[in-house]
Amino acid sequence: MTTGSRGHTRSLRRRIVHHGLVSLPPAVDPAVSARMSNTRGRDTSPEMAVRRALHRMGLRYRVNYRPVPGVRRTADIVFTKQRIAILIDGCFWHGCPDHYRPATGGRSQFWAEKIEGNQRRDHESSEAFSSAGWLVLRFWEHEDPVTVADHISSAVHEAARRTTCPASGSPRT
Ligand SMILES: [Zn+2]
Repeated sequence: MTTGSRGHTRSLRRRIVHHGLVSLPPAVDPAVSARMSNTRGRDTSPEMAVRRALHRMGLRYRVNYRPVPGVRRTADIVFTKQRIAILIDGCFWHGCPDHYRPATGGRSQFWAEKIEGNQRRDHESSEAFSSAGWLVLRFWEHEDPVTVADHISSAVHEAARRTTCPASGSPRT
């Protein structure tokens, strides 16, 4: 998250300099900039970085889409033709083993139950998608966006190969 917002500020400054304006935006306190990046919502998120990388690779996809009709669960990035549903899980909310540390103190029980509930829900969504014939790919938000996008891209191309060369087709010799 912090890396993303710093990167954003840097590129913003570069753009302003590029256009020849003298006045740079004042340096922002890190706490304020973190709050600002939160209010900007998903646009600075790791998910957005993955989406940008996929877009650069020429891949087109749906965002926050329900892959399975009748199942009220969305996936973050969806390739409908190839039937691939991608979820990028936040380290805190989904209980990343590397970054999630259980809260201590008065509200610890509340948070533990909340994260557990999210994980249960994640599992149910994956089950629902894959039992409907979808390939489900899950990533953590801490994973490198380009590596994630590479992984997704090979899955998409692999699926495209399968659908363009159906096993039921007449053998070509
Ligand atoms: Zn993590």
